[in-house]
Amino acid sequence: MPFTLSEEHESFRKVVRDFAEAEIAPHVEAWDRDAVFPVDVIGKMGELGLFGLIVPEEYGGAGGDLTSLCVAIEEIGRVDQALGITLEAAVGLGINPINTYGTPEQKQRWLPDLVAGRALAGFGLTEPEAGSDAGATRTRAELRDGAWVVNGAKAFITNSGTPITSLVTVTARTGEAADGTAEISTIIVPSGTPGFTVEPAYRKLGWHISDTHPLSFTDCRVPEENLLGERGRGFAQFLSILDDGRIAIAALAVGCARACLEMSVDYALTRTAFGQPIGRKQGVAFQIADMRVAVEAATLLTYKAAWLKDEGRPAAEVKQAAAIAKLYATEAAVSATRTATQVFGGYGFMEEYPVARFYRDAKVLEIGEGTSEVQRLLIGRGLGLPVE
Ligand SMILES: Cc1cc2nc3c(=O)[nH]c(=O)nc-3n(C[C@H](O)[C@H](O)[C@H](O)COP(=O)(O)OP(=O)(O)OC[C@H]3O[C@@H](n4cnc5c(N)ncnc54)[C@H](O)[C@@H]3O)c2cc1C
Repeated sequence: MPFTLSEEHESFRKVVRDFAEAEIAPHVEAWDRDAVFPVDVIGKMGELGLFGLIVPEEYGGAGGDLTSLCVAIEEIGRVDQALGITLEAAVGLGINPINTYGTPEQKQRWLPDLVAGRALAGFGLTEPEAGSDAGATRTRAELRDGAWVVNGAKAFITNSGTPITSLVTVTARTGEAADGTAEISTIIVPSGTPGFTVEPAYRKLGWHISDTHPLSFTDCRVPEENLLGERGRGFAQFLSILDDGRIAIAALAVGCARACLEMSVDYALTRTAFGQPIGRKQGVAFQIADMRVAVEAATLLTYKAAWLKDEGRPAAEVKQAAAIAKLYATEAAVSATRTATQVFGGYGFMEEYPVARFYRDAKVLEIGEGTSEVQRLLIGRGLGLPVE
């Protein structure tokens, strides 16, 4: 296994870093304060090719690997976590289901605009009463006269209500399997379909720039051909999509932890107390040294998981690596934001210092796309433990 990324990946990293420094960093404090969703920056990210990294060239993508996507998410996330999750969700949750399970017609219809950053798609798995237990979905879709009629609600759906959102894919009960369990399928619901309501955005602790809404569906009719993938395989499809998504979230967490490390080192070199830079104090330097170790470990776990996926290793192996990377990297990121805020003292609590924003933004990393407890459950099961 290589312990460094390829030269191509590193030069791509530089391109994304320069972009994030030039196009995002100068504005991010104001966007975060005013909860602005910067549609024009999404377009520029599209022009840079960030949304098409894993999409075949015939649909406007680069036909690249998950490692490239992780590099892009890490670098955008190093400057701003909310735009990092916007990219992660756009590709990992919006594009990936269509790219992986869509028919040629569905791909042709939806992917070119999503890849170009002219459109965004949401992924509706979570419901008000079904999060970690996503199989308990209550939303129903009934086939009537050549159309799916969707009724139900989804909660916390990222990128679902932006001015350029073109669709959401939703899981819904479409019947009962032979063994009496719910048959769950995935349906594409285009924005603006009558009966599909995007409820007002949540007020969130962090990720203010990211777009998150509850969704409701009342007798919402979409054509029968909007079934995505196989009927009855919707839940399994979403779980598989989430394995890639967790690697991408780990990359977002690496960006967060790395930003905290860099800011802490700079501050510890310049801020003085008792006549010396605070970095001379072991109490400060040792905390930053521990952060350095966590960043290294999180980086290796994340890019190993991406490498396993890119190498085409068995799904069970990727699933374990994804859960391990997501668990470790997100908890490391939350710890890094706590340490960085402490290193900055009172200024760390002030919004004009980015560490305050990273502190607010980090917590959800341990929740979205499977909580830390769910990752431990998956890791335990991977060890053969009968954990429920
Ligand atoms: C900002 C944001 C954006 C999101 N974006 C999306 C999106 O785009 N699409 C989407 O579908 N979802 C999205 N989510 C939903 C997210 O994936 C869920 O919030 C998450 O999976 C947890 O589900 P829940 O909130 O229902 O918590 P619950 O499942 O109710 O969990 C509550 C607590 O119980 C614990 N718990 C539950 N079951 C177990 C168990 N078996 N063992 C041990 N502990 C357990 C959990 O770990 C947690 O600590 C988003 C969430 C947020 C906050």
